Amino acid sequence: MCGIVGYVGHRTPVPILLEGLKRLEYRGYDSSGVATMNGGGDMWIHKRQGRIRNLEKDLPSELPAATMGIAHTRWATHGPPNDTNAHPHRSRDGRIAVVHNGIVENHSALRKRLTGDGIVLHSDTDTEVIPNLIAKFYDGDLEVAVKRALGLIQGTYGIVVISVDEPNRLVVARNGSPIVLGVGENEMFVASDAPALIAHTKQVVFMDDGEVAVVEPSGFRTTDLHDRPIDKAVDELDWDLQEIEKGDFEHFMLKEIHEQPRAVTRGLRGRAHLEYGDAHLGGLNLNRREFFDIRRMGLIACGTSMHAAMAASYLIEELARVPCKVDIASELRYRNPIVDAKTLYFAVSQSGETADTLAAMREVQRKGGRCLGVVNQVGSTIARESDGGMYIRSGPEIAVASTKAFTSQLLALTLFALKIGRMRDLSAAAGRELLTALHELPGQMQSFLEGADDIERIARSLIHQPYCLFLGRGPNYPAALEGALKLKEVSYIQCEGFAAAEMKHGPIALIGDGTPVVFLVPKDRLHTKTMSNMEEVKARGARVIAVANPGDTEVEELADEVIIIPRTHDLLTPFLTVLPLQLIAYHAAVLLGLDVDKPRNLAKSVTVE
Ligand code: GLU
Repeated sequence: MCGIVGYVGHRTPVPILLEGLKRLEYRGYDSSGVATMNGGGDMWIHKRQGRIRNLEKDLPSELPAATMGIAHTRWATHGPPNDTNAHPHRSRDGRIAVVHNGIVENHSALRKRLTGDGIVLHSDTDTEVIPNLIAKFYDGDLEVAVKRALGLIQGTYGIVVISVDEPNRLVVARNGSPIVLGVGENEMFVASDAPALIAHTKQVVFMDDGEVAVVEPSGFRTTDLHDRPIDKAVDELDWDLQEIEKGDFEHFMLKEIHEQPRAVTRGLRGRAHLEYGDAHLGGLNLNRREFFDIRRMGLIACGTSMHAAMAASYLIEELARVPCKVDIASELRYRNPIVDAKTLYFAVSQSGETADTLAAMREVQRKGGRCLGVVNQVGSTIARESDGGMYIRSGPEIAVASTKAFTSQLLALTLFALKIGRMRDLSAAAGRELLTALHELPGQMQSFLEGADDIERIARSLIHQPYCLFLGRGPNYPAALEGALKLKEVSYIQCEGFAAAEMKHGPIALIGDGTPVVFLVPKDRLHTKTMSNMEEVKARGARVIAVANPGDTEVEELADEVIIIPRTHDLLTPFLTVLPLQLIAYHAAVLLGLDVDKPRNLAKSVTVE
């Protein structure tokens, strides 16, 4: 779930390991630890509850000499976050150490078995059974022992194992928790996510489930659990270091909000055919016939990705006239979904590792359905296992609260809607109109973001309120949901989003004197209807903060605050209405003195159920 870094080579490992952990810090964690070893097999372990700085603070002034090491940030699933439960975990005989992401589901049974053998475990974690099983099976070959132990383990894992008997060797395995290897010059790296490696190498190998790698300074070799060799391709990462650094911004969240114009430009590049009013999308693996045969669409996602999918579903139905259903991945996977050959599915996930989305995609595929991916992380599991798809190209997203992925996912799905629309009822002229508006978006986003000074003041007016509502209609209903999600994620203010007209059916009871209600009310064809809803809440004493287009005197007269966003195509308004909502959430968190980039209880990519 959280962070893993491993190193073997000729350099002192601790600085490399800690720097790697820090690059994964954004994922959220509650303790950290490191183990190193020298060529003579002397192992040193150091672990601390809390932030990585606690670990650093207590480092000895002189680090033990070493040429390899493993490190971990833990997001506790079994046992409270404390020094003992932090990883690496060592076998009782002290010879094996392991860092582990994921969950050993049958840990109680394995613990009993080990206790029966006289091995008493001293942490509360599920993980501690792993090094002990490996030690039990160790008979001169670490790889063999790891495979035997993994044969008994049910659950998910990304692990890196070291043994005092085999210095200069890391044994790495993956099942359900991402692991990537980094190839250097006579040195090798391991991480749970590529940002931890990028300062050292761009040559990476994405491991798949069921694979085990033996990693040494000179290279690596991969097999499955039954010793069958697997040839892995070395990919080149196309990120720059500066993309994973804050630069002039105080927080990643703010940086990423401001990166949206550029991300939309990147997402459009090479994908728009202005002349034909059409989109060009490589990688879908669909021929014309298959496009014709699509009768329905299903979008599978969680969290912010689900809101992007919901907004996209309005565009898909409108442009392509294809019924489009959005499913919460965790619900779909256990619902015995009805899958048919004429429905095209998309799994939407920023990281491409979201456990529920991945499992739902696999379930759809198992039933014979075709599921494409809408993913940011190149080489991620969904990217590899889907039947084709689109990369959203928004660049690395570090802040836990997703912002630029929302607009980039919406863009990719908008282009898909255009493409399928153009194969059906949508005219070239209508397609051109949409594309022209899409091309104007980056400039419009930029001009809004540059002039958004007032949002901090508006955020200040919300932070001491007990409750806040977000309302919108059409594609701005999911944008309202996203606004509420953002605010609660980073500021912990209780808030909800609703379809504006749904208010009357219950939530209006929440409105009292001064209750803040954020209304998304661009000048689209639903404007008059949304204005009636605004009247309804005003009449009950709400304080209305409206997100509206320039020159909208009706809104100006009724609302208490108006945030002006540029006017765009009716279907594209969420690209702009969501920006002030992201900024409100950001400023609210900063004003409350909260850790914006690492909100409590949250992790960046949710790789457990
Ligand atoms: N389940 C393990 C534990 O609680 C690993 C958690 C993680 O992925 O960080 O220690």
